[in-house]
This record gives sequence, structure tokens and C-alpha cells, in this order.
Amino acid sequence: MSTLEVKNLHVTIDGKKILKGVNLTLKTGEIHAIMGPNGTGKSTLSEAIMGNPAYEVTEGEVLLDGQNLLELPVDERARAGLFLAMQYPAEIPGVTNAEFIRGAINARRSEDNPISIRKFLKKLDENMDFLDMSEEMADRYLNEGFSGGEKKRNEILQLMMIEPKFAILDEIDSGLDIDALKVVSKGVNKMRGPEFGSLIITHYQRLLNYIIPDVVHVMMDGRIVAQGGPELAKRLEDEGYAGLRDELGLDI
Ligand code: ADP
Ligand code: MG
Ligand code: MG
Repeated sequence: MSTLEVKNLHVTIDGKKILKGVNLTLKTGEIHAIMGPNGTGKSTLSEAIMGNPAYEVTEGEVLLDGQNLLELPVDERARAGLFLAMQYPAEIPGVTNAEFIRGAINARRSEDNPISIRKFLKKLDENMDFLDMSEEMADRYLNEGFSGGEKKRNEILQLMMIEPKFAILDEIDSGLDIDALKVVSKGVNKMRGPEFGSLIITHYQRLLNYIIPDVVHVMMDGRIVAQGGPELAKRLEDEGYAGLRDELGLDI
């Protein structure tokens, strides 16, 4: 079992304090959701964990099995077993989707032991079938001209191919129609198991009808202010964030 631990994380952007002491512990075998109003710091948390240089960590640690990820360059964080689906995935012209994925897999393996082409293509084909993706998606340049739904589907394909220990999925549900949402959820649920843990960041409860989280964290104003089970997400759907804010006596 592996553990991803965020300890008292403080993050600043352009001198503005965004995260004000975030704590959470995620273990492989678990799926946690982070919900919270817009602008509350959810994406900041994922960016800081992944090492986006615009996000300055002023205090705290992020430990993967005891190793402080914040001391590692971004590529080594990925190699340590982390996967981040960005809210706005980048386009990489000139690199096909399949090449990109194979590169990402091999970057996580030792240099003298790359995945065989045959194995790679078989796995790619199986996973693309599973996600109802058309074959030509493999040969298109990464994210170039992909629709919003195709990008999200493709991120889940990357996830299933790369098989990280931990995935942080930031708003994988945004802009998806119900069919795409179901496919994306099906992919994440297939990953579920003792070797995989995920932090699912979402604004809406809807996604959590398909991916049932073990733990729900609510973030407001740069802090986790409440934790619970799936029922907490349902309650937020019914009452909005205002109810919780009042109950906690938060003035934010
Ligand atoms: P959420 O994902 O919860 O909607 P974010 O983490 O994206 O929230 O943003 C938290 C706060 O940080 C917001 O006030 C936002 O305006 C600010 N912020 C986010 N990214 C940047 C940036 N690159 N530069 C300046 N401010 C930013
Ligand atoms: Mg946002
Ligand atoms: Mg966000």
C-alpha cells in the first residue's frame, strides 16, 4: 500500500495566499473527492502537488510514502507514481497521442526495459475500445483539435495506460455530456483497486453519482473545512455550499 500525504500545505500565487494549511491523507485503494466553490483553491492544490512553478509552496509537505515530492522536479514526481489530469490539457503539436502515451509509460520504466511495441499496441487497443474511442484518436497530434469531451476521454485513456499509483483528476467532468461522463467514470472505476488511489476534484456532485468516493472533503477559502462520506456530497447538492458555511459559522 502507498500513501499520499498533504501536510499543512500553504501556497501563494503572485504573493496572494491561496492555500492556508491543507491536510489530507490518501491511500491506494481509496478514492477521495474534493468539492468546493469556485476560486477556493482546488486547482491550486493539484498544481502545487504536481509542481507548477507559478504556485509557490511557502509551508508544508507533500509526501509519497514518506518522500517529500516538493523537493523533486516535475518529471520525477510523475515517475514516483503521480498522475495529474489538468483542467485545461495542453496541446502538443507534432507528437501523436500514441507516441506521447508510450513515452510517458517508458519514462516511468527503467531505460533498458521499455514496454514492447506489441504489448503497448494491444493494451492501447483494449483501452480505447473500453472507452469507446475511435482508432484514429491514437494517431492524432496530442489534444490538437480534440473536442472538450475527447480531451477528457483521452486523459482517462492516458490514466489507464500509465497506471499511476495516484491520480489527481481536476474537473474531469466539466463540459461533458452525460454519455461522455459515463465513459469517463467507467474508466476511473476500472482503475479502482488496491494499487490505485485517486483525488477527484469537482465542482458538482453529479460525477460522484458515477464514481462513488470513499471520502469527501470540502474546501473553502484554501482550507478543508469538512469531511465525510458520499452523503456529504449529496447534501451539498441539495443545500449548496451556503448551508455548510452557515453551520460551520464561516464568513467566506
Ligand atoms: P478552484 O479550482 O477551486 O476554482 P483555483 O485554485 O483555480 O480555485 O483558484 C484559487 C484562487 O487563486 C482564485 O482566487 C484564483 O483567482 C487564483 N488563481 C488561480 N490561478 C492563478 C494564477 N495563475 N494567477 C493568479 N491567481 C490565480
Ligand atoms: Mg476554477
Ligand atoms: Mg479549479
